[in-house]
Amino acid sequence: MATREVAELNGDGIAAELRAAVHAVNEALGSPVAFRPIDWSLERREASPAVLEEGIEAVRALGAAMKYPTVTETVSPNQVLRDRLGLAVIHRPCRSYPGVSRNYTGKVDLHVVRIATGGTYEDAGIRIGYYSAVSVRVMERTPVEHAAHFAFRLAEQHRQAVTSTSKYTIQRATDGLFEEVVAEVATEYRNVTHNRELFDALLAKLIINPERYDVVVCPNEYGDFLSDMVYGLVGSIGLGASASYAFSKSHQPIIGVFDPAGGTAPDIAGKGIANPSGAIEAFGYLLQFCGHGALGRQLVDAVHDTIAAGEKTRDLGGTLDTMAFTQAVIRRAVPA
Ligand code: ATP
Ligand code: MG
Repeated sequence: MATREVAELNGDGIAAELRAAVHAVNEALGSPVAFRPIDWSLERREASPAVLEEGIEAVRALGAAMKYPTVTETVSPNQVLRDRLGLAVIHRPCRSYPGVSRNYTGKVDLHVVRIATGGTYEDAGIRIGYYSAVSVRVMERTPVEHAAHFAFRLAEQHRQAVTSTSKYTIQRATDGLFEEVVAEVATEYRNVTHNRELFDALLAKLIINPERYDVVVCPNEYGDFLSDMVYGLVGSIGLGASASYAFSKSHQPIIGVFDPAGGTAPDIAGKGIANPSGAIEAFGYLLQFCGHGALGRQLVDAVHDTIAAGEKTRDLGGTLDTMAFTQAVIRRAVPA
């Protein structure tokens, strides 16, 4: 198996523990990747602005990265990465974990594909005196095209259904453009059905009947709300994985950044008890991106099977520490 070099952006809090878990998994799988580490801890980022650049250039040169949680003081490292590398789309897979108590008893298996740029999140606007302010909402054709192609290709590998969601009857200019572009792209994927739903209605339907949904594609803000909500639905907010991509002109992902969806968890950092499932799953998606498709899928399934078998970390009501859980995942991903 050829070893692929990837960047590794190390962070703060539980980042070191999550990284140790991913390294143990990588070694157990026969080291399909070699990590080029860059220390993105707050201390080093504040000491030298060159540290951020070093990380960005490593990801650009190597085309793939594992990223661990970082503290944001003034500059958000995630925002900088997104801007500088043109990461246009964020993919959040979301599956229910059997054995994790949650509000919903059915099976959730859906994908949120979110445009990572624009919307109202550039915060472009002006304050007009004491009583008012305006903010500009941006929608650009190219990131919508990337997101739509990504969503339809993903659906081809799942349950062949894409739902686009926005407030197209109200935000007719921006969400109107979004829906227009998704509908255009849909014509290229005849084997996948496309429905469009108003975002408010979708939230209610998704809570009542999440099995209906396969791939949901949406503008930046809605995707932000939705991806946290679906993790709430499966009872494991912060433990999922997230992937961000930059694309070629023909909408192929050319750079992938993979990270656990949770934060730095300062309250438990250094205790060796953090749940590494999100980080290990993110690594599974990195493997798939780097051409190790079967191995990556096997690893993601191993995380689910481990939790389903009742081998859980403390945050999920179990007793295992970070490394004991990681070893349990390894036993499933690498049968003896
Ligand atoms: P940040 O600003 O980096 O988001 P935070 O203080 O908001 O940090 P989070 O990381 O968002 O903390 O975590 C919120 C809660 O979830 C904390 O109680 C934390 O311990 C818990 N948590 C987050 N990630 C994990 C994990 N991987 N394993 C176990 N518990 C976690
Ligand atoms: Mg947080």
